[in-house]
Amino acid sequence: MAVRTRFAPSPTGFLQVGGARTALFSWLYARKHGGRFVLRIEDTDLERSTQESVNAILEGMTWLGLEYDEGPFYQTHRFERYNEVIGLLMDKGLAYRCNCSKERLETLREAQMARKEKPRYDGHCRDQHVSPEEDHVIRFRTPLDGEVVIDDEIRGRVVVDNAELDDLVIRRTDGSPTYNLTVVVDDHDMEISHVIRGDDHLNNAPRQVHMMEALGWQVPTYAHVPMILGDDGARLSKRHGAVSVMQYMRDGYLPEALLNYLVRLGWSHGDQELFSIDDMIQLFELDAVNRSPSSFNTEKLRWLNQQYIRDTDSKRIAHLLSSHLGDRGIDPAQGPDVVAVVEAQRERASTLEELADISLFYYRDFEGFDEKAAKKAFKGDADQALEAALRRLEALADWGRETIHETIAATVSELGVGFGKVAQPVRLALTGRMASPGLFDVLAGLGRDESARRLRMAAELVEKGEVPVA
Ligand code: GLU
Repeated sequence: MAVRTRFAPSPTGFLQVGGARTALFSWLYARKHGGRFVLRIEDTDLERSTQESVNAILEGMTWLGLEYDEGPFYQTHRFERYNEVIGLLMDKGLAYRCNCSKERLETLREAQMARKEKPRYDGHCRDQHVSPEEDHVIRFRTPLDGEVVIDDEIRGRVVVDNAELDDLVIRRTDGSPTYNLTVVVDDHDMEISHVIRGDDHLNNAPRQVHMMEALGWQVPTYAHVPMILGDDGARLSKRHGAVSVMQYMRDGYLPEALLNYLVRLGWSHGDQELFSIDDMIQLFELDAVNRSPSSFNTEKLRWLNQQYIRDTDSKRIAHLLSSHLGDRGIDPAQGPDVVAVVEAQRERASTLEELADISLFYYRDFEGFDEKAAKKAFKGDADQALEAALRRLEALADWGRETIHETIAATVSELGVGFGKVAQPVRLALTGRMASPGLFDVLAGLGRDESARRLRMAAELVEKGEVPVA
């Protein structure tokens, strides 16, 4: 059977990391087996579903590169088909009308709770032949005895007694179909071979299998992925910080780093940590997915992101960095080549946001000098060291890393001081702080005119004893 997987989000919010991981596993499985990946929008909850959320989900998937081969299919466009299947179940006597009032169901529920029983419908209308003229819901006739077995690719064998399931509502009083019915119809019509989804749906699987079997349809293979916990052991939620995939983009994560992180969240291959997309496709196996929940660990994500910032093509990082600089009101075209900045700075940042922050000095004046650094580097004869360096640098014909190095060395020997006595004030004058890329890289990157301007300004401030600090 051809492999066909699907991602079936309800559009009631952003694409979150849990959903993104489920989508990734489904996508990988399809890619690995030369299959197709279908996107289905489960928008039957009209009150909570929004087009805005659909757009946000599509945006998240596009950013991550989880391209779908078919869809998006919208469930709200398929009501006719769902009603047709409900009609089929009615005709076969596999479903029935129920007109139990809210009050009756509530009393039933309370009595069951008082007896410490699981609340469930008691089948009161099974043989009542409720007239279609009356207000009614339609319920599926669940087999009363026997059991249902699901050989879940992740969970293993799951056996549920039919006696534990009740006759679930498949059509509401207003005529709208319910989730379990629409999923069954869609998974069948879309010829889904593998249902890979969050394990919050594990308890729906036996009901869905019953309906598939009643309709004589092929039951797909199920794989229920355990949930993701926050670092405090509670289910991952907004409380734990960013959960929306696009927030990670804004925070300066690379999509490939987030995918790498997500694939390792509950799945492993030996002790390998770094997976390219091709590696993932080749190595991913459902039966190697952990059965227990995994914990989200931001530090590990940051570490991975750092690896990707370091190892990804500089031009691509420069392109991404430019947009983060743009967010800070900077036009990178009015400053040093962003690729050179990336190459000088990439080891020192875990996110593109951090990279933008520590690279700001290349593109605009800083507010003031780091106070501690200024106390140390701008004392004594620092103004003379700055002026000596300035004189030599201004006269330099060929502005390159090597010639700059020689010039600083010549300044050091001219003054007869240690290297730090020149390098430290120069570095501080140019960057405003002591932590920066190598001094020669900074000078090369800033260019002669801008370096000279900053050195001159700092020399004057030091001489006047008016160094502003921030
Ligand atoms: N729409 C459901 C959800 O977003 C998923 C249903 C399914 O995968 O079967 O939780």
